[in-house]
Amino acid sequence: MTELELLIDFHKDAERQGPGSTADTLRALSFIDLNRNSPLKVADIGCGSGAQTIILAQNIAGRITAVDLFPEFLDRLRQKSAGLGLQDKITPLKASMEDLSFGREEYDIIWSEGAIYNIGFEKGIKYWKSFLKPGGYLALSELTWITNSRPREIEEHWNREYPEIDTASGKIRILEENGFSPAGYFPLPRSSWIDNYYEPMEERFEDFLIRHGNSEAAMRIVDAEKEEIRKYRKYKNYFSYGFYVAKKLPGE
Ligand code: SAM
Repeated sequence: MTELELLIDFHKDAERQGPGSTADTLRALSFIDLNRNSPLKVADIGCGSGAQTIILAQNIAGRITAVDLFPEFLDRLRQKSAGLGLQDKITPLKASMEDLSFGREEYDIIWSEGAIYNIGFEKGIKYWKSFLKPGGYLALSELTWITNSRPREIEEHWNREYPEIDTASGKIRILEENGFSPAGYFPLPRSSWIDNYYEPMEERFEDFLIRHGNSEAAMRIVDAEKEEIRKYRKYKNYFSYGFYVAKKLPGE
């Protein structure tokens, strides 16, 4: 197995592949004015196994195209949505977020939890904007500094790993510069990282290592995740995911 295949194997049976919660998804949704006559068209980009896709399908009158690069995650979403009778509302689509076959101004809402970093925040906003109707909404969660200054270790770490990390005001400015009007922002609470993401992940370490015969590559993945958890626990007062909801201005 390649390192990428191992990573997919590690994450595919998790409830979610990043920090978040039902309450976060519903809170972000509450900033969106959903009073439309026709059913809404929604794209959930970088959906993973679709924890948030299911919540959206249960709370929106419309249809959701759920995009991910990896079929293993989409298979899990397919199973879950069939089990809940939501298969007619959710269409899984294997595609890259950087190369989408969507129509111009096709969607009312573009949703993406913990995934836009794969294309880059500003690049993703510029590219995805063309697929949104005027007056349509973008809802994104993205790594964000939640204080104006922070200890050097964590500042250097994130500047190296994800140089686009910024404070909420910096992220909102980028949205505004690209033709969006901010409709809502909140930082994800710690429970969305610890209870919903890191603790379930810690419970999978042992089984994953056994399944892969304690291979060096499997151990490298576990060690890297443990280090990420250590940094989060130590520096949780300084960064989180910010959830941003913004409306595309007419004429953009
Ligand atoms: N939204 C899910 C959640 O919050 O549980 C998944 C978040 S996970 C951190 C990021 C997701 O982006 C993964 O499912 C990964 O497969 C997907 N991804 C990475 N690169 C991608 C790309 N170029 N195009 C589409 N999806 C991609």
